[in-house]
Amino acid sequence: MPSRSLAQNLPDHTLIVGGGAIGLACAWALADSGGRVTVLDAAETGQGAVWASGGMLAAGFEACFELEPDHPLAEPYAAFLRSAQRLWREWAPKVQALSAQALGYDQQGSLTPAFRSGETERLDQAEALAKRFGVLTERVSAQALSRMEPNLTPAQGALVFPNDGQIDNRALGAVLKDAIRSRGGEVIEQARAVSLLREGGRVCGVRLQGGDEYKADCVVLATGAEPFDGVPEFARMIPVKGQMVRFDWPRAAAPQRVVRALSIYLAAKSGGRLIAGASSEPGETSLETDAQTIARLVEAAQAALPGLAGVAAVEQWAGLRPQSRDSMPIVGASEPGLYLALGAYRNGVLAAPGMALLLLESLGATPRTATTDYFSPDRLALRS
Ligand SMILES: Cc1cc2nc3c(=O)[nH]c(=O)nc-3n(C[C@H](O)[C@H](O)[C@H](O)COP(=O)(O)OP(=O)(O)OC[C@H]3O[C@@H](n4cnc5c(N)ncnc54)[C@H](O)[C@@H]3O)c2cc1C
Repeated sequence: MPSRSLAQNLPDHTLIVGGGAIGLACAWALADSGGRVTVLDAAETGQGAVWASGGMLAAGFEACFELEPDHPLAEPYAAFLRSAQRLWREWAPKVQALSAQALGYDQQGSLTPAFRSGETERLDQAEALAKRFGVLTERVSAQALSRMEPNLTPAQGALVFPNDGQIDNRALGAVLKDAIRSRGGEVIEQARAVSLLREGGRVCGVRLQGGDEYKADCVVLATGAEPFDGVPEFARMIPVKGQMVRFDWPRAAAPQRVVRALSIYLAAKSGGRLIAGASSEPGETSLETDAQTIARLVEAAQAALPGLAGVAAVEQWAGLRPQSRDSMPIVGASEPGLYLALGAYRNGVLAAPGMALLLLESLGATPRTATTDYFSPDRLALRS
């Protein structure tokens, strides 16, 4: 049996494979709880999907517009996203205090305008779902919207999610790396794990490309959308490619809140960066962008923000969202010594603190809640 930290009933040493939003969040939660943790990343931490993302903490929008209302886990997932959003309020200042890099945590809310006919009905439906899922919303008129966001194209009104927000996702990796190291955690980059090591019927470490071995009491796989030989078949990820663009655009001329329009989203980041996204291309693994998709994003951004007319995008990129078979996160033990922290799909930046807490529960460090069972690798939906 692995030895345990006396203080928290944590494994003495946890090895986390993958330093993305989820792996780093798990490592931070463990290190902050007094556990010994080592993160291995194939490249540089924080440069995978988290870097490519929109960095939005949009529990409200996602529950009301993106979540399939008939999904068997719709209610628990909406509640999980809301609790992750609340956790961000504690996490952001805490990790920020341990890093010189600005996390850009912003709680100004998000809004969904109804630009076209037919979209008002979508807002009505979303408002009904908000009641069902316990999401705080505010419906605003066309006039109120123009006062709130004068730079936007006039719309027939909007649904506001006051609790939504965003961070600077490109800073998240560096901030969490600093926070983990400040608690004595180890982060090792350019270290690609290629296989699991087993001893006495349990996973006890990994072998790296090049042959080095790392051993620990348990291993957490947080490899995002990338395939890994040690991932059981039921937990193989479907990569869902997303392309995005950036404009250089002054903050004062950008929307002040995150705009989650039905055809495009716009999020103003620090340094005059305005990002717009995103495509959704299941099964695509290439990180190349294509001219047609980029042109569509630019056109939709310009339609939502008239000041952008004629302004060219200065950067374009793509990332891969890790989607599980039932589109829900997978956190927990899959065999002795092996834990999964996968499937954050569209919401890994938002969900990161929540998934880290589920990992602590699965490890036995904190009392197990029903949420851990909903998102456990043991759920039937993954096996069927
Ligand atoms: C275009 C786009 C927009 C998005 N917008 C948002 C948003 O606004 N809000 C939100 O919450 N989410 C958003 N997401 C989703 C979010 O980015 C992902 O859910 C999240 O980044 C997943 O985190 P992860 O740690 O599982 O994967 P990643 O962030 O991709 O990290 C995986 C890490 O594992 C490493 N790795 C992989 N294999 C190995 C190996 N064998 N050995 C060692 N290391 C390995 C990789 O190098 C990488 O660093 C978006 C995603 C995309 C693509």
